[in-house]
Amino acid sequence: MIKGSCLCGAVTLEISGTPTSLSYCHCSRCRKAAGVFSAVLIGPVADLKITSGECHIARLEPDAPNVHRRAFCEHCGSSLGDLATDSGIYVVAASILDDDPGIKPMGHIHTASKPDWYEITDGLQQFEGDYVPPA
Ligand SMILES: [Zn+2]
Ligand SMILES: [Zn+2]
Repeated sequence: MIKGSCLCGAVTLEISGTPTSLSYCHCSRCRKAAGVFSAVLIGPVADLKITSGECHIARLEPDAPNVHRRAFCEHCGSSLGDLATDSGIYVVAASILDDDPGIKPMGHIHTASKPDWYEITDGLQQFEGDYVPPA
């Protein structure tokens, strides 16, 4: 079980099973909501359980063409990810994890939106937009 919590501890969650992917998202929404970029953990939605504080989760709905909500704690402002339960996958901000998710980042996505002042210095693969699986 991978546990996660916001800064103030009001919102806690658990992830069972192994996440599908971990990546760094550089889109402008992650930059503004989470910092320079967001470490994004994705997996099957059935594996995600909000264990406390559902009533303290505030959600900013996306404007088209964006599809992901921004969920955050109404008390401490921690960026929590999307936390959608109405799609097949969960999107959780890896920054709130208290345990090791057991996988390493696979790369950087939405690098076209990255600010010029931030330079990616690791050797991970980079995608200008969404992740594109190898052909
Ligand atoms: Zn909080
Ligand atoms: Zn993003």
